[in-house]
Amino acid sequence: MTELTCIVCPVGCRIRVDRDGNGLKITGNGCPRGLTYAREEMTAPQRTLTAVVEVAGSDCMLPVKTKVAIPKAKIWAAMQEIKAITVHPPVTIGQVLKEDLAGSGVALVATGTIDQDEKRENL
Ligand code: SF4
Repeated sequence: MTELTCIVCPVGCRIRVDRDGNGLKITGNGCPRGLTYAREEMTAPQRTLTAVVEVAGSDCMLPVKTKVAIPKAKIWAAMQEIKAITVHPPVTIGQVLKEDLAGSGVALVATGTIDQDEKRENL
């Protein structure tokens, strides 16, 4: 038996997952989204990764995130790639900074804007 807290919405249902033959018996979810979450969490867990990257010639950092969730197993490799990134202004919110992060097939995008003078906007 495994207990999970659903992170899909603020309700935070406690979901119980039991092995049932070759399948899973999932209970405690308040809605169908929790069922999907629990099934994915038990078979192929994923997370949207947020971090910051260095800005060339500046002390400020630029917030970034994966465009969508990536496999949890790739998060360490993704963080190593993110640590090596330095962006050069200007950078616009939503701009792709790296395609196929850690071989996940998912892009890393900026979640803030930095103008040519390295002045942060929309952070
Ligand atoms: S199971 Fe449904 S209601 Fe419960 S936390 Fe998840 S999304 Fe929200």
